[in-house]
Amino acid sequence: MKEIANISSDFPRVVIIGAGFAGINLVKTLQHKPVQMILLDQNNHHQFQPLLYQVAISGLEPDSVVTPVRKLFKSCINMIYRMARVESIDTNDRRVITDIGFVRYDYLVIATGSSTNYFGLKDIENMSIGLKTINDAINIRSWMIQNLEKAVDGSTDREKEILTKFVIVGGGPAGVEMVGALAEFKKYLLKNDYPEIDGDLMKIYLIQSADRVLPAMSSRSSMHALQVLEDLEVDVMLNTKVTGYDGEKIQFERGAGTETMNAGALIWTAGVKGNSIRGIAPDIMHKGNRIKVNEFNQIAGMENVFAIGDIAAIISDEYPEGHPMVAQAAIQQGKLLGKNILSLIADNKFDDAFRYKDKGSMATIGKKDAVADLKNIFLNGKLGWLIWSFIHLISISGFKNKISIALNWMFKYLTYDKANQLIIRRYNPNRQQVPIPHLEHDS
Ligand SMILES: Cc1cc2nc3c(=O)[nH]c(=O)nc-3n(C[C@H](O)[C@H](O)[C@H](O)COP(=O)(O)OP(=O)(O)OC[C@H]3O[C@@H](n4cnc5c(N)ncnc54)[C@H](O)[C@@H]3O)c2cc1C
Repeated sequence: MKEIANISSDFPRVVIIGAGFAGINLVKTLQHKPVQMILLDQNNHHQFQPLLYQVAISGLEPDSVVTPVRKLFKSCINMIYRMARVESIDTNDRRVITDIGFVRYDYLVIATGSSTNYFGLKDIENMSIGLKTINDAINIRSWMIQNLEKAVDGSTDREKEILTKFVIVGGGPAGVEMVGALAEFKKYLLKNDYPEIDGDLMKIYLIQSADRVLPAMSSRSSMHALQVLEDLEVDVMLNTKVTGYDGEKIQFERGAGTETMNAGALIWTAGVKGNSIRGIAPDIMHKGNRIKVNEFNQIAGMENVFAIGDIAAIISDEYPEGHPMVAQAAIQQGKLLGKNILSLIADNKFDDAFRYKDKGSMATIGKKDAVADLKNIFLNGKLGWLIWSFIHLISISGFKNKISIALNWMFKYLTYDKANQLIIRRYNPNRQQVPIPHLEHDS
């Protein structure tokens, strides 16, 4: 196996696996500092997951929410990027093994994030789509448009009814945002874009296993979100657990019984699990496939090996299951670990332990409403939506992306029109879709 990124340097080498929120904030902290960084990611881009649902619903184009890694760090001279999928780590030889060769490290940071958790439900994994990557968002968009195009003509009434029934599973922020945007599409755009489809035929469901939507937020936020979704004619099914899907029929448990219903598309947002890598001992793993780390993000028993972001679980009395798998936790851990690695190199000690600064949580429901739990303040309606929009705009990478998204939102806010309902590439629900070359490593 060949050695990759073998460029000599007088500085210690920090290998970072993953260009997500955690990885890129670590790189930003270490840029122009006396270290040599090797950044590895299976994709050539950083993706802004909070806005993936807008790509899925044709509200934004894919390049507004992903930024090429090389562009993001074009002026960073102490970082080498390689598009590589990491397969395992070898801590005895201090090597990372990838699909294009191996790379040596002095310090190793695992920032591989998380992927959709189907909880072992294989038929759902095969027949539905998660909402975790830009690839998923493009597939969801194609699937929905293809179904509507099929429903326009040449279908029996029963086929039409199935093709226009969309089910989102999971009532967390991703599911609520996705279903809200889809419901607005039905309410405001369906009759213009697809005049041949009877609006009453199209049905949108949100299925949630808990007794409320947005269970991680305040009960006021949950109640407001439920009300807005119901006003948008979403059928919200609480206390309902989906157990199977064969591409046409969904099986679910409600009360004591098992029931079924037809659906032409199922979007699964019901859970995530860490993307772990071979070479980590099983006793270091926590629930949800996360790696247990101490308050300095160090993995026990592994010298100079760290984990940050969704993949890392810092277990404490306050967070017995680790911190929430959200962007802020990943960003804060990436920044602090950068300082800690520099301090370790210079003084052989850590700078500071990780303390999560919870800035609150938000979810938008449609294009004019959102809920926000910010410390002791609860916001909803237009004000909530304005705060949500502002925070997402300042958080997205790249000036061009900020401007293009701001203009797009302004236009939609005023007109209710959306970007083109464009199929970028066809989706084959039997999972034989043709990959876009630069996205083919997507997990
Ligand atoms: C639809 C959706 C909406 C969300 N909305 C919000 C929100 O509104 N607010 C919020 O705070 N959080 C939100 N989140 C959660 C947030 O996006 C994550 O917590 C955050 O992305 C975690 O950052 P990370 O760096 O740990 O992982 P990620 O951002 O997932 O990055 C991991 C990176 O590692 C790479 N990788 C993985 N495995 C390998 C491998 N073996 N080899 C090479 N590279 C690999 C991946 O390609 C990826 O680039 C949302 C998530 C989703 C899916």
